[in-house]
Amino acid sequence: MGSKPVEVTLNGDQVTISGAERSVGGLLDNNVVSVTPGNYVAVDGSTIRQGEGTRCTAKVNGNDTDDMGMHLNGGDKIEISNGTDITEPYTDSEPQTLPHKTELKGVGAVHLYSNNAQDGEQVTRTGKESGITATVTTKEPVDNIVQYYNVNSNGDKVIALTFDDGPWDKQTDEILDILEQNDAKATFFTVGQCISGHEKELQRAASMGCEIGTHTWDHAKGSGEGVSLIKMSTDERKQEVQKGLEAIKNATGQEASTIFRCPGGNFDTSVATDLEGIVTAEIGWNVDTTDWKKPGADVIAQRIQSAGPGNIILMHDGGGDRSQTIEGLRQALPKLKEQGYSFITVQELLEKYPYQEGQTN
Ligand SMILES: [Zn+2]
Repeated sequence: MGSKPVEVTLNGDQVTISGAERSVGGLLDNNVVSVTPGNYVAVDGSTIRQGEGTRCTAKVNGNDTDDMGMHLNGGDKIEISNGTDITEPYTDSEPQTLPHKTELKGVGAVHLYSNNAQDGEQVTRTGKESGITATVTTKEPVDNIVQYYNVNSNGDKVIALTFDDGPWDKQTDEILDILEQNDAKATFFTVGQCISGHEKELQRAASMGCEIGTHTWDHAKGSGEGVSLIKMSTDERKQEVQKGLEAIKNATGQEASTIFRCPGGNFDTSVATDLEGIVTAEIGWNVDTTDWKKPGADVIAQRIQSAGPGNIILMHDGGGDRSQTIEGLRQALPKLKEQGYSFITVQELLEKYPYQEGQTN
């Protein structure tokens, strides 16, 4: 019968057990193994009655069991460890929103929103026995991660040309002419209030496959001092970008790209938080031509030509006289083309060469 001696494995050791020892409860009753039981606890985890949790945590042949009387057979593998706490009965309040956070991570020219952020929920839990209340998270929030990285094109000779602060009289068209001559596409980060009167240029750019994103409505004028969304209020930030996007849609009849660029590249956690749901990425640059300082067309051309595979280049088609930019571009593009480069939009670059988890460049 069940009382004769058998050999089992108990917490990794071979032991011989017999008689009343041949159950989980029997092993504990007869001190073959000794563990600490859990406690009976309040909703905040404080102990109401010590030792009145579960007696132990037991596994027989890999299966959890709370059957203290289950008969043990020779060859069984038994694991017995400390018991767990049992929480008193409780009532929960209506769930309350637990807002998610925004976190900027990594380093690089691309600042890509994770787009799966979600608020969590919490309740106030009241113990029926203790009367103690505790705040308990019932649904973890999913934070909005803005991943900074540089595009790794695996050596593919692709470049994203970007032009800010336009559209602009004649200049935008001259740049489109050069792009056309070099089978190139580019991304224009437009200033919304400059679009009126330049719809044709934007329509032409769109028809060439160029990407049109916003650089805000008025370059963060007003409390942004013409250069920084960081200095603006939440409402102002949202309006700057939403009005910029609407102006593009009105001019082209197409939805604007949700990839955008902050004036002056001034982007931080608070701006990222306020623009969640409005934009999908904020774009910096790998190569700054500093064309707005007018260093000479040759210098601008050299800087454009210094770009490598997967790089994003910063230039301007508006905001002042850009004749040096235009001349520099005219010199540089055929040379890069000769080297095997092609020119794609930022969106194409991000889609074709997505962020790889853990990439370090
Ligand atoms: Zn700008």
